[in-house]
Amino acid sequence: MSCDWHIRCMDCGKTHRFDDANHEEELMAKLITMAPIFALLVHNPAGVEVHASWNRWRIAPEFFAEHLGHDLRPFSEYNDLSTLVIPPPVIPMTIAADFEISALRAQLISAHLRIQNLERELVEKRGS
Ligand SMILES: [Zn+2]
Repeated sequence: MSCDWHIRCMDCGKTHRFDDANHEEELMAKLITMAPIFALLVHNPAGVEVHASWNRWRIAPEFFAEHLGHDLRPFSEYNDLSTLVIPPPVIPMTIAADFEISALRAQLISAHLRIQNLERELVEKRGS
């Protein structure tokens, strides 16, 4: 029996469809581990138009960018969820660096907010 596989975001209920990916459950699992790399293609700094494909299957980088960090699973045309264990995604160095910068920025913002609160408290104390 033929069974096409796709990739489904369990968090959003959206599906990346593949044409004629018959019995390609394991390939879908492999593509999911590479999601951060595909997502990068959307934000290519050179502004070059990128068409991604894997063998004869077209990859939509926008899907992987939109659902980065979400729970992606191989999903069959008969609505079966894959039971394959999917290894953690491959994170390229540039993305890892972005995460670190974002975490640092979040810490700075939170420190800044704490200082503002302290200043506000001081002003209120002086006023009373
Ligand atoms: Zn999602």
